[in-house]
Amino acid sequence: MPNHNIIDEVQINNLLQTCNKTDNQIIDDILQRALELNGIDLGDVAYLLNIEDYPNLEKLFDTANKIKEEIYGKRLVLFAPLYISNYCSNNCMYCGFRVENKELSRRTLTIDEIKDETRYILSQGHKRTLMLMGEHHKNCSLGYFIEAIEAVYSVKDSKGSSIRRINLEIAPLTDEEFKKISLVPIGTYTVFQETYHRETYKTMHPSGNKSDYDWRISTMDRALENGLNDVGIGALFGLYDYRFEVLSLISHAQHLDRKFNIGPHTISIPRIRPATNAPASQNIPYQVSDRDFRKLVAVLRCTVPYTGMILSTRESIEMRTSLFNLGISQISAGSRTNPGGYKQAFAKMEDESQFAMNDCRSSGEVIQDVISQGYVPSFCTGCYRIGRVGEDFMDLAKPGLIKLHCLPNALLTLKEYLIDYADDETVKLGDTLISTEIENIPQEHTRNKTIQYLQRISQGERDLYF
Ligand code: SAM
Ligand code: SF4
Repeated sequence: MPNHNIIDEVQINNLLQTCNKTDNQIIDDILQRALELNGIDLGDVAYLLNIEDYPNLEKLFDTANKIKEEIYGKRLVLFAPLYISNYCSNNCMYCGFRVENKELSRRTLTIDEIKDETRYILSQGHKRTLMLMGEHHKNCSLGYFIEAIEAVYSVKDSKGSSIRRINLEIAPLTDEEFKKISLVPIGTYTVFQETYHRETYKTMHPSGNKSDYDWRISTMDRALENGLNDVGIGALFGLYDYRFEVLSLISHAQHLDRKFNIGPHTISIPRIRPATNAPASQNIPYQVSDRDFRKLVAVLRCTVPYTGMILSTRESIEMRTSLFNLGISQISAGSRTNPGGYKQAFAKMEDESQFAMNDCRSSGEVIQDVISQGYVPSFCTGCYRIGRVGEDFMDLAKPGLIKLHCLPNALLTLKEYLIDYADDETVKLGDTLISTEIENIPQEHTRNKTIQYLQRISQGERDLYF
């Protein structure tokens, strides 16, 4: 697939140059349109990305906050990553797993080790995991990966809980491979383009399968043509001008929406972190400042109001906290980025990790903090399990109907967490939050049913959802 169908570099550069006036009236009109929750067009996005002055930035943040509140309310979905192999034949200049990092201890987890890691993730209260690995056809094949998925689902902890949803972030697959993996019960399949800027892409990916820009950017087309129906995209911020990357992410989302009537379920916005023997992570070509990072999150929230936005532990506690208000809807917690890392604790992380984390708190600490700030940690996996994915999900999400399910499901899964995994302090804070948030369920019928479900959970039932 020729790249120009998806990313039009000339158009994006033109927009960035022409839509660069800080005209209060123009910005006010765009933000007013954004509040209608139908998204805004690429020119509008360029204007917002070019905001430099404090008063307009504040207006942008305020608008993003209103949109976040309107669509997502106070819920925040939680997940934990599960790295199963750090072998990789690619040479991404920013990544600790790159083939030229000869100092990295490489390993692919055995099925038993994967089950051990799953037990640890479950013991932290998680129900949703994101499975990742490098790209190495000999040491981590697709067949092995499918076995690994089955192994994760097979584990039950002492509370009778198991992982209810596995999302994937693995190298782009072929048509045949997508057909195979579409037969396995997975959630969202995510691949980051890293940078949408072709020239930069070339220098950052000098060898290996990943050096082919067109192969990577056409991944989601192949996925949706071959049986998958739930995909996520992302860019690695710091490789090129963040404004170019945001306009490209939106162009990519619009392309998928036009062609398949399924936009991306999620957009991820990782910023580069230090990694061993990865030159572009030590000397970041286009470092994104904290202020610009907040701006880009707010712009994305205004532009694709119904698309989930994921933030990882690459960001600091302070940054994560400040972005909940501006549009983040999913976060990872208590993460390890080395295979086997949950069992080993922190001892060997330095040697085998993909990159250094910033928020190193345990899941329990993150969850208690999230609750203290008035957000509802959600372990919900309802949509995927009822089959509310792909077009069906979009049909509900676009008119704003999805929130009718999300808040009740968030409260039900939080209640399970409080009973099964939380310490006394978190239980106190969590139960108070549940009582307050029940009142925010708009429909009386659903509110009453949620109260009944909460009672049934207190009496020992699990996995009740709408
Ligand atoms: N290996 C597969 C691939 O590259 O598509 C799977 C994903 S890889 C394990 C996860 C993601 O980590 C990459 O897509 C990249 O964006 C990100 N990453 C790599 N090095 C990083 C670094 N130094 N800091 C932050 N994120 C990094
Ligand atoms: Fe391998 Fe992915 Fe790291 Fe690139 S980003 S070196 S493909 S693990």
